[in-house]
Amino acid sequence: RLRGLLIQHHFLSNCSARTASSVACREYDVIVVGGGHAGTEAAAAATRIGAETLLITQKIETIGALSCNPSLGGVGKGQLVKEVDALDGLMGRAGDYAGVHFSILNRRKGPAVWGPRAQLDRGRYKEFIQLELLNMPRLTVIEGSVEGLLVSTADPEQPGKHTVTGVRLADGGNEILSSSVILTTGTFLSGSLFMGKTTSPGGRMGEPPSCSGLTHSLREILGLKLGRLKTGTPPRIVKETVDFSLAHLHLPDLRPTPFSFINTHTHCKPEEQIPCHLTYTTPGVDRVVRESLHMNSHIQQDTKGPRYCPSIESRVLRFPGRQHQVWLEPEGLNSDLLYPQGLSMTMPLEMQLRLIREIPALQRADIHTPGYGVQYDFVCPTQLFPWLQLKSIQGLFLAGQINGTTGYEEAAAQGLWAGINAGRTALSMPPLSLSRTESYIGVLIDDLVGHGVTEPYRMFTSRAEFRTSLRPDNADLRLTPKGFEEIGCVSSPRYLEAVRVRQGLSEALSALKSITMSPSRWKEKLRDACISETKSTLISGEEMLQYKDVSFDMVASAFPEILSPYLEFSERIKIEAVYRPHCEKQQREMERMREEESLSLCPDIDYFSLPVSLSDEVREILDRVRPSTLGAAMRLQGVTPAAIVHLLNYVTRTG
Ligand code: FAD
Repeated sequence: RLRGLLIQHHFLSNCSARTASSVACREYDVIVVGGGHAGTEAAAAATRIGAETLLITQKIETIGALSCNPSLGGVGKGQLVKEVDALDGLMGRAGDYAGVHFSILNRRKGPAVWGPRAQLDRGRYKEFIQLELLNMPRLTVIEGSVEGLLVSTADPEQPGKHTVTGVRLADGGNEILSSSVILTTGTFLSGSLFMGKTTSPGGRMGEPPSCSGLTHSLREILGLKLGRLKTGTPPRIVKETVDFSLAHLHLPDLRPTPFSFINTHTHCKPEEQIPCHLTYTTPGVDRVVRESLHMNSHIQQDTKGPRYCPSIESRVLRFPGRQHQVWLEPEGLNSDLLYPQGLSMTMPLEMQLRLIREIPALQRADIHTPGYGVQYDFVCPTQLFPWLQLKSIQGLFLAGQINGTTGYEEAAAQGLWAGINAGRTALSMPPLSLSRTESYIGVLIDDLVGHGVTEPYRMFTSRAEFRTSLRPDNADLRLTPKGFEEIGCVSSPRYLEAVRVRQGLSEALSALKSITMSPSRWKEKLRDACISETKSTLISGEEMLQYKDVSFDMVASAFPEILSPYLEFSERIKIEAVYRPHCEKQQREMERMREEESLSLCPDIDYFSLPVSLSDEVREILDRVRPSTLGAAMRLQGVTPAAIVHLLNYVTRTG
């Protein structure tokens, strides 16, 4: 298979012009523009549901490239990876193949907010994604740059409404037709790179930005509202020039936990994992930042950057005099480079070198590749439906950084959902939305389309109000059956595995419930456990698991004839038992939200002439955002409870 990939890759990268012209004037069900994390998941998902798909990207060689940190997951982001995997996306399996240092963040807190994370080998990650994509049935991949959208003339009945009909390539102006196009241009839309006082056009170091024609199509022809955001990356450091004895060693988990529900182990063996190191900034770092400010155009600009992943310049300016963490992370299994997380910077190269050498462990360090910043256009995401299609352009979908998010996981999650919906549109099926009650993907999209963004959006567990139900461990139970039965994006082996697990968990919990004893009897049975005898009533095996010190294995060893068949689900059973009371309580609130979500608001409502009592301010907000359901309207800032009651009356009256 790998040989096949290499031959195809070689063929495609050497014959891109021929390949591009060979697909010219052809019609595809779905065209995906961009081969980043959003584009690859979008293309794969559209293909999985049966759509004939074309992926056009500037360079095949960079498909699946990790532009910044070689890591995946974390708190909130790890949940997204698990959900993408539960819907049969690529990211989780790619992470298991490429990971070189696995850890579960937040272990000391409850499993609902655990953050599965891995440090990756860049080369392996790309290799996995390319291998999957270039061998996928119904998917054609070509190298090329899309410079414009083909759009049918607006319907005179509906001024401002357009329909996409395809794309036009930059070289030779070839046109390729499709009724569903997904744009996933990442940091490339009108992208500019910054280092010191130097600015140059680019989407990423060494790669040109998206053609200006595309921005023109979006802004001038389609009348979309665009904004501008920025981000940056640290210099890469030559590993052998670092003095690790002056940093703190940080070991991975002894047993790596795979991201994917269908993997029992990771490609990297536990003993092959590579450690990370932690060090800190010094007052010298602050000094260099201040001395270089006048030579640093990126930091001087008002454009908003990622608040939770700020540059060292922003950190020093916001928290003067503070010591900041710097993680020295491997770039790969055999890489000679290190990624200094926390040192994203855009000052001139000579100042970058001075700055890193102010850190004791890096006092003799050399820079292999300088840090730099990028500024790019994004499309304000309130212009999207929850199925990621633009409200004013039939068939045009957007996913990833182009919607104002930051991060591979946020991009992949949107890409997958846009791919499913673009495929469904092309195959004449109605669009689908994911609710906040069932997934982090639903939370992410609902936040984007409901509130828009003022700074790069990243996922946190605190954004999910039902996080005790939306746990990383149960993403397969929440989404895989839906993905197979309703959407058709999940393969049958994965579905059968999820059904087997669901059955096993349900049987194990019933068996645990059937074992009831007094606390004193339990104490005798589980001699190692610390059980308070305050309760006089009988306690079930399931309730016993709610004690911190009681594991499923302990209970199973006391009742092997009943429970030993379920030992493989040991950790999951414990988590289910611990969370069951919280989840049952949450269920009622989730039901209420689902009811509100089921009351749709027609996309064409004229809020200014709606014959109900609404203030001008509320009418303006509703007109601007056009929430697709009553639930979404309720979450809009500025829409009062009274306005919601009037809207509810209107919706129920008009059916
Ligand atoms: P990308 O991964 O950017 O992929 C876009 C793809 O589209 C590319 O393959 C490109 O070639 C292709 N493309 C663009 N225009 C066209 C066109 N017209 N025709 C054909 N193909 C096209 N994220 C964080 O979470 N934290 C960070 O600190 C961080 N720092 C970053 C620093 C830098 C310098 C960069 C470049 C990115 C950084 N990111 C960071 C962002 C992270 O890389 C993105 O969030 C993620 O890659 C977005 O995925 P995407 O699929 O939307 O776009």
